[in-house]
Amino acid sequence: MTQMMKAAVLHALKTPLSIEQVPIPEPGHGDILIKVTACGVCHSDLHAVEGDWTPPPVIPLIPGHEVAGKVAKIGPGVTGFKLGDEVGVPWMYSSCGQCEFCLAGMETICKQGEATGYTKPGGYAEYMVAPAAFVGRLPAGTDPYAMAPILCAGVTTYRGLKRTGARPGQWVVILGIGGLGHIAVQYAKAMGLRVAAVDVSPEKLELAKSLGAEVTVNGAEGDAVAAIQEKIGGAHAAVVTAVASKAFEQAILMLRPAGTVAYIGLPGGKSDEIRTSISAITNWELTIRGSNVGTRLDLNEAVAFAANGVVKAKIRTAALEDINGIFDDMRKGKIVGRVVLKFS
Ligand code: NAD
Ligand code: ZN
Ligand code: ZN
Repeated sequence: MTQMMKAAVLHALKTPLSIEQVPIPEPGHGDILIKVTACGVCHSDLHAVEGDWTPPPVIPLIPGHEVAGKVAKIGPGVTGFKLGDEVGVPWMYSSCGQCEFCLAGMETICKQGEATGYTKPGGYAEYMVAPAAFVGRLPAGTDPYAMAPILCAGVTTYRGLKRTGARPGQWVVILGIGGLGHIAVQYAKAMGLRVAAVDVSPEKLELAKSLGAEVTVNGAEGDAVAAIQEKIGGAHAAVVTAVASKAFEQAILMLRPAGTVAYIGLPGGKSDEIRTSISAITNWELTIRGSNVGTRLDLNEAVAFAANGVVKAKIRTAALEDINGIFDDMRKGKIVGRVVLKFS
């Protein structure tokens, strides 16, 4: 008899997920089956549900790409894992391993890459399958609920900060203090950077301050660019995780000469465009870089910070059945930190 599991499934874009019994997947060659302990709810999952991005997700879809769990079954050809090992599954489900980007250690931009919870079933389920070669190893005994957000929010902001090239002692402005941003503040502090935080919610700015941001600016009140230029003389670096195109425009103008901004947020849809000043970029030699999740090496490093307790996601746990309400809260910007689905 086929063994069944509980999962949250998207059957059509812009509709609620339905909680269903579906077959437990079988690990194929090179795969492991993971019993999911925790899965963070990333805004990318909401973008998937809303169909904000092109191409849209593969439907029916089980979303979820901030997975912490344990190895439950090992597929043929897998070495180096044993039952019960603590593992994590990130957005990067797989890459081809052969193209110029994979060969250069830039597997996150492989054009043949698959995405967990977007093109492949993800972690809003009691079990999921993932290729062993792309699964992250979590140190035994770490808190799986606090660790789950590191699999996307953590690794992504860690890489984004590195891609700005900011050095200890320099200023970084982080725009958007949501699930990603509040973790970005912590990585930035751990890297010795000075942090300015911008959000449109006073509660989120309070959180940023409690995590070590020296300067906070409410982007909904007054001129946020002028405030940053005035308070810190412009930032050496910026990281944008906000889900609003305006923040991407502002970030460029918040830089000092020679500054670099890393774009992480993906508002998508009608908000996928910005207007900017060519002369500001040219005259001040500014750099704008994209940053797409993180490589397997980035993941190992990002996990190490969290395992050492230097970076810790602020979480609230919830049941899988709560997912549609969590998405509503996310649409309204009401989530402070990260919500993590808890499986028994
Ligand atoms: P979230 O909803 O938890 O946080 C978004 C934050 O942006 C909120 O705190 C909100 O108040 C803030 N915000 C909204 N408008 C703003 C404005 N005008 N100025 C400043 N802040 C503003 O979302 P999240 O899970 O942190 O994800 C953020 C974005 O990053 C999403 O678009 C997501 O898809 C994207 N993402 C990208 C990658 C990548 O690899 N590039 C990885 C993960 C997530
Ligand atoms: Zn994510
Ligand atoms: Zn490739």
